Amino acid sequence: MSTQDLLARIGQSQEETEFYTPMPEGYRRGKHKYVVVVGTVISGLGKGIFSSSLAKLLQDKGLRVAPIKMEGYLNIDSGTLNPFRHGEVFVLDDGMECDMDLGTYERLLDQDLTGANFTTNGQILSGVLKKEREGGYLGRDVQVIPHVTGEVKLRLRELAAKTDADVVFVEVGGTVGDYENIFYLEAVRQLAYEEGEGSVCFVALTYVLEPGSLGEQKSKAAQLGIKRLMEMGIMPNIVACRAPSPVTDKVRQKISMATNVPMPRVISMHDVPSIYLIPEALREASIDREVLTLLGLHDRVVQRHEDRVRAQWKNYVERIGRAERSVQIAITGKYTALRDAYASIIKAVEHCSVNLGCNVELQWIDTTTIDASNVAEHLKGIHGVIVPGGFGVRGTEGKIDCIRYARENGLPYLGICLGFQMAVIEYARNVCGVADANSTEFDPQCKSPIIDILPEQKRIEGLGGNMRLGGKDVELKPGTLAARLFNDAKKIRLRFRHRYEVDPKYIDDLEKAGLVFSGKHPTQPIMQIFELPQEVHPYFVGTQAHPELTSRPLRPQPLFLGFVKAAMNFAFDKPRVLQATEK
Ligand code: GLN
Repeated sequence: MSTQDLLARIGQSQEETEFYTPMPEGYRRGKHKYVVVVGTVISGLGKGIFSSSLAKLLQDKGLRVAPIKMEGYLNIDSGTLNPFRHGEVFVLDDGMECDMDLGTYERLLDQDLTGANFTTNGQILSGVLKKEREGGYLGRDVQVIPHVTGEVKLRLRELAAKTDADVVFVEVGGTVGDYENIFYLEAVRQLAYEEGEGSVCFVALTYVLEPGSLGEQKSKAAQLGIKRLMEMGIMPNIVACRAPSPVTDKVRQKISMATNVPMPRVISMHDVPSIYLIPEALREASIDREVLTLLGLHDRVVQRHEDRVRAQWKNYVERIGRAERSVQIAITGKYTALRDAYASIIKAVEHCSVNLGCNVELQWIDTTTIDASNVAEHLKGIHGVIVPGGFGVRGTEGKIDCIRYARENGLPYLGICLGFQMAVIEYARNVCGVADANSTEFDPQCKSPIIDILPEQKRIEGLGGNMRLGGKDVELKPGTLAARLFNDAKKIRLRFRHRYEVDPKYIDDLEKAGLVFSGKHPTQPIMQIFELPQEVHPYFVGTQAHPELTSRPLRPQPLFLGFVKAAMNFAFDKPRVLQATEK
């Protein structure tokens, strides 16, 4: 059906009308289907995990999927959000700074996403206001309905058309009943009306309480939460019940009765040890097939594709948590209280752990109390050190002490972004003898600003605007450890989020003193990976990039993989060497 036909069908004309349904060029109704996931009762239930797991099941069947997260906040992107409150800022290849859920989608779908997969209230509203100033509404009074909702629908349809998706997975941030997402919910209700029956599948993710004092599951909060959704005109097609333990049939029956959702579509989504087990759990509950039926998609399934990728995935998940050996990795971090701030690093390490058959236990260390006198004590029993990305001076001197200790004791080291910069400063101070080496981020007046603000970033004004962001090419120096880790590739792509870099005028001295810059920007003098030769240190590597952002379960990121392998050598081979020398 053409856009004209659709407009006619729902009673719209281009003339004076209460409807407002802008359509992307060439949009074909019925071609693209939508699964909308909303949360009830409480937030933080793992809507993104559910949505990406279900999307993965359909992707496995050979369908093209496109996820989108719709955030309720007014910020234009997540760049200025404090990781303490919101978890890490995830950066996409096109430079979009977004919610950490996008990381979950990229990892589960093994798919690079773009800014089109992420929106905020701020983006939607500023788009509407801009259009109003440009006279885009032709004399109409601009309203939340239909204009703001129209903008939301346009975003969803644009994503569908641009990616040619069979199914768009829409994750509505927050919970039903929040003011923040109210126009998103109204927009998806309208979308279902306009797209017609069998085009939009609503999933309500809810929570089944289990008060300790009662010792049994209670469904009332879930029922009320879903009723709230129904009051808004949205009838869920599927109810997924989050709970600590499997949801009983009795509770499922009550929820089914209260929501008009048949029993096979009211499923238990109880806690499991790893999120990577969820796709298989949903498959066992036949939710993938229910969605195919609801959206009329059975004829788009490619069975052979599903069998092949499912076997690979099963092979991965069966190895999760099965390893008998463990290594201890220290992560120095300011946000030691909040693991979400380092979600992608935790995942990247986990991918290596499963692939290498060795548990990796992370020890979070607060470097504000570390100095040269106690660093050995703090790093006792540690087999590798990661200094992750960060901003601000707090704890940086303690990080330098940890890096020096790792460098001088053959302890594997991986420096990420800030950890790259700190290691270069450490090397300048303690190997090149530049005692006052520092970054102008921490000491704007410092005499030897080894790390300084990028000239190109200085020119950009505005908070959140002057960061070097997104995927960039990195040219690898042949014959180096970095090149070997990437199978002798000449050029790789990594993602960045920084303002400062190594000042090119110090590069010569650092290299003469033995530091090897093994990854550089192909045309500009931007240092992107350093290493020490392996004759000097088994694994002393840093990158200005964020390699954790591109690690995927079946394709662990090479810099992490090399690091964890080195930590295993350090943990398991060292005692043997010591015994040999004792004899
Ligand atoms: N603060 C440093 C910079 O802006 C490092 C940033 C980071 O670690 N992401 O360059």
